[in-house]
Amino acid sequence: MVYLANDKRYDTMVYNRVGASGLKVSAIALGLWNNFGSVDPLATQKAILHQAFDLGITYFDLANNYGPVPGSAEENFGRIMADDMKPYRDEMVIASKAGYYMWPGPYGDWGSRKSIIASANQSLQRTGLDYFDIFYTHRPDPDTPVEETAEALDQLVREGKALYIGISNYSGAQTKAIAAIFKELKTPFIIHQPRYNMFDRHIEQDLFPVLRAEKKAAVSFSSLAQGLLTDRYLHGIPKDSRAAKSTIPFLHEYQVEKTLSTVKQLNAIAANRGQSLAQMALAWNLREPEIASVLIGASRPSQVVDNVQALDHLAFTADELHQIDTILAE
Ligand code: NDP
Repeated sequence: MVYLANDKRYDTMVYNRVGASGLKVSAIALGLWNNFGSVDPLATQKAILHQAFDLGITYFDLANNYGPVPGSAEENFGRIMADDMKPYRDEMVIASKAGYYMWPGPYGDWGSRKSIIASANQSLQRTGLDYFDIFYTHRPDPDTPVEETAEALDQLVREGKALYIGISNYSGAQTKAIAAIFKELKTPFIIHQPRYNMFDRHIEQDLFPVLRAEKKAAVSFSSLAQGLLTDRYLHGIPKDSRAAKSTIPFLHEYQVEKTLSTVKQLNAIAANRGQSLAQMALAWNLREPEIASVLIGASRPSQVVDNVQALDHLAFTADELHQIDTILAE
């Protein structure tokens, strides 16, 4: 059956400007780190992507190494694009990244010019795209001069392989340093991708002041703490959940146990607000003016539906924020 996007897809989604740039992104964005690999059914992947696009999500986040196996998320995304989403290419902001281990030898990792240019070319090939809307350096490389990483990213823009540049996992000071180089090069560096959620607030002191000063925005990753900040684990650890899956080594059962009593208290506040915990967690991220968008992962379309409904209730009372802070400080 031919996919025809919902013609009401732009009616309720919120679109936020990325810093002082001309680009707007959907306040909820879909990430393909997990659930889009060669181990995941393609039909489910397609259903999640269609659901997201039908609800007005325009920003789709990839990286060279997403899978498993590494590279397969880009390949699957490319397959689905070629199959039935290509007509919507100009309605989508598609991002990829280089910087984590991808291929053997000294060039398949980190941030040298050699690695970044080769990796971006591979990502274009795997996705079948002509260009990425945003291309990121996935992490700072302590052994490569920051000028070299910046110049490689700038080259991608000059070659038409990327429209905008982003950085991920850079500290406040590292952000300031690379921003100064991009300014000199006139590179369209617009966005930062940090981890941010109720359980990991380190960027509030370190990065937000820099982003404010530089007029840049952030799109937060693991906004739901990989599912901990949802109702997924309230009644045990489901077999099909990230914490239980052997193909995903990033979330463990002990983390579920460690956070459960906090999660239950947060869930009670969400219920009082008439929201799911996932919705409250996303709204909480979006209360920060620097956060233009919250990335979500999803293993099924219904999670995307649940998460987008966060936008129905974004405001917090001072009392709610205080209650959340108190719970998190315990
Ligand atoms: P989340 O914190 O959103 O966790 C996603 C998981 O939470 C899902 O797989 C699902 O778990 C569960 N979930 C999502 N919505 C709901 C819901 N409504 N109800 C119940 N459970 C829900 O995100 P990720 O950690 O996956 O990160 C999101 C994206 O951020 C990535 O795909 C990637 O694009 C980016 N990222 C970037 C990094 C970087 O270094 N730049 C690092 C990590 C991520 P389950 O599978 O159990 O159903």
